Amino acid sequence: MNLHEYQARDILRRHGIPVPPGEVATTPAEARAIADRLGGNVVVKAQVHAGGRGKAGGVKLADGADAAQAAAAAILGMTIKGLTVHKVLIAPAAAIASESYVGIIVDRASQRPVLMVSPAGGIDIEEVAAKTPEKIHRLAIDPRYGLLPHQALTLGFALYGDVKQARAAADIMQRLYTAVYAVGASLAEINPLVTTREGSVQALDAKIAIDDNELERRPDIAALRDPTAEAREEVLAREAGLTFIKLDGTVGCCVNGAGLAMATMDLVKYYGAEPANFLDIGGSSNPQKVVSALRIITSDPRVKVILFNIFGGITRTDDVANGIVQATREFSLKVPMVLRLTGTNQDVAVDILTKAGFPALTDMDEAVKQAVALAKGKAA
Ligand code: GDP
Ligand code: MN
Repeated sequence: MNLHEYQARDILRRHGIPVPPGEVATTPAEARAIADRLGGNVVVKAQVHAGGRGKAGGVKLADGADAAQAAAAAILGMTIKGLTVHKVLIAPAAAIASESYVGIIVDRASQRPVLMVSPAGGIDIEEVAAKTPEKIHRLAIDPRYGLLPHQALTLGFALYGDVKQARAAADIMQRLYTAVYAVGASLAEINPLVTTREGSVQALDAKIAIDDNELERRPDIAALRDPTAEAREEVLAREAGLTFIKLDGTVGCCVNGAGLAMATMDLVKYYGAEPANFLDIGGSSNPQKVVSALRIITSDPRVKVILFNIFGGITRTDDVANGIVQATREFSLKVPMVLRLTGTNQDVAVDILTKAGFPALTDMDEAVKQAVALAKGKAA
């Protein structure tokens, strides 16, 4: 689950990291009132779950309440990376002297939280990593000991030559590490961490992603979820009890089991097309889940074909077949389907589908080949 910048800032502030104050507005008039209260120069920032807001025009400096209102009017309603801006954060503008990067991610390769810092902050850290990797300093943290003071200070000096600033940065890194564990984050980034013209070190942007598995035992964090900021399909899928991730391709995949879903996506790519989604309908035998899955997949206009790949173990393939038939009665499908079902009750399933006019396959390879051909506009 992703948090908004203003929510991430609150978490950092609670952990003692210096973050400028700020308030959220949903209308230009509210933005104006906040700017009035803050007085002087402010920055107006789009609150969406996407990076690169600055480049997209979603971060604007405003000198005074009038300008803040105008900036909010321009930013609210804007789309950034496919997400509509419903909220803006208004904060006093900082006078920036330098921008650096500090982030902690859970790293699979080292199986540890990794602290990354770079004096080349502000811009895309991915670009820095690609072009000038020597500007990124990495430290895999041993979770038994945590981030030790001398380790943090060494990285503090990788950012700043000034002792006071290096110490301030080290303190921020240690607090960030504590915050990661406190909220169950899989990623926490400060970009930019700035030095101001007065010499202080401050976190000006914050990004936190929470590990979904941590939400159940952290109701206060789970309550921060903002469904209006998430992709509509992902919200619908969560409500229907489906595991769904939106992707960019044309082959809509409806699969049971995460492993089979991954294998299906691999095979789709192998035969030359791209999956439109990852979807695991789970192990239950519930035709209604299939109906929800089809609704979600077909709401994406890029989907050219729907590929079912069902392995019946606990899942009964006849239930899935009934779900498919039920869905086609509830709404009309505008794209072809390729169905592959094998395992528990497969004969019954094939019979149900054949009677309803849908030929079904049992071979996965053949099914994926057909789906890819249809996605590319060729007859299967
Ligand atoms: P992002 O583009 O989504 O990462 O949004 P950021 O919050 O990181 O803002 C992008 C850039 O806008 C920063 O790297 C700064 O250069 C600039 N910026 C953000 N806040 C301020 C501010 O308070 N004062 C000034 N002068 N620039 C700011
Ligand atoms: Mn940023």
